[in-house]
Amino acid sequence: MSLRQKQILDLLIIGFGLLLVLLWPEGPGLAVGLLVLVIGLILNVVWIRCPKCGIWLGKAPGDYCHICGAKLNWKEKKRD
Ligand SMILES: [Zn+2]
Repeated sequence: MSLRQKQILDLLIIGFGLLLVLLWPEGPGLAVGLLVLVIGLILNVVWIRCPKCGIWLGKAPGDYCHICGAKLNWKEKKRD
């Protein structure tokens, strides 16, 4: 997957978790939704990283790493 695909998938997971919490707060939606949210946030930290220095790129990543200045290729696919 490319960085962009990981970012989109992660947003979908977080969105799904939020939806569960909002639509089903009285039932198991709260617990399951929070679990999905936590998984989404962990995946964000694991996936959205600088390919050069490995730092987490944060919530609003740009075209360049804010630590090492490496150009980020959002469409490049890697075998991972
Ligand atoms: Zn970097």
